[in-house]
Amino acid sequence: MPEILYRPIHRRRFVKTSLSLAGAVATVTPIYSYATSPSKEVHWAFLSDTHVAGDKEEAYRGFKPYKNLQTVVPQVVSAAPQGVIINGDVARLTGEQSDYQRINELLNPITQKIPVHMTMGNHDDRANFRRAFPDITTQVEEKYVHVIEASPVRMILLDSLLYVNKVAGLLGKSQRSWLENYLATASAMPTLLFVHHTLGDNDSGLLDVDRMFSIIQPHSFVKAVFYGHSHLYQYSEREGIHLINLPAVGYNFSDSQPVGWVDAKLTEKGGDFTLRAFGGNQSEDKRTTHLDWR
Ligand SMILES: [Zn+2]
Repeated sequence: MPEILYRPIHRRRFVKTSLSLAGAVATVTPIYSYATSPSKEVHWAFLSDTHVAGDKEEAYRGFKPYKNLQTVVPQVVSAAPQGVIINGDVARLTGEQSDYQRINELLNPITQKIPVHMTMGNHDDRANFRRAFPDITTQVEEKYVHVIEASPVRMILLDSLLYVNKVAGLLGKSQRSWLENYLATASAMPTLLFVHHTLGDNDSGLLDVDRMFSIIQPHSFVKAVFYGHSHLYQYSEREGIHLINLPAVGYNFSDSQPVGWVDAKLTEKGGDFTLRAFGGNQSEDKRTTHLDWR
């Protein structure tokens, strides 16, 4: 499956479906749920921009994305989170089937034990994703969108892939309508959004970012948006909503930036985010950033 990789022994539990009205069409919303009872803290691993190619030796700026993910996998296994999210640009450039094959092989030690969810980046290809992982579900036709309930938080994985191998991204009207309807009927569980593209006004970012914010801002239970794309590690805020730019696993664009991932401990009040840098600028490796939700 593209957005969630599992071995059969750990098949997802389809615990709940809810109906939300998107225009005249009723949309069934599957929810992946991992906690059997509300827990005080939940532990997840957040990765982004793995950029793995079919060719193991493929390199950029002196980094080999295959090797980098190979480095991360045992770190994640030993951290033992409840789940893993890879926030887009899973594949190197054009989302080839061979890229996803490599990813699947590399993630195997994780997916034997821990579910892996993914979003689509501008270097992913939905058709090849679908071929590589045919057992797929999505909430929005032509996009890959799903909801994870990891009590005490909910995570919504959005799809901003507009064109393969071109930089700009877009949620699009049908996804925005789904999000609007979903949030209008959702419980007040603290909610974190994941989307690949950057959230500024740049032409290379999420082109409907303002329309997304006008949908999410009124719902005070939406606490943070995680994104990637820039290969920068940084924290900012918009109208009380935390914006967390996850570092890239594959390579950085500047020597001042780390290459790594983020180990997250999440509660209903906030989160502790620890950088696990293994390349690039490692000066902030193991540094924890605490955020309080609005
Ligand atoms: Zn990228």
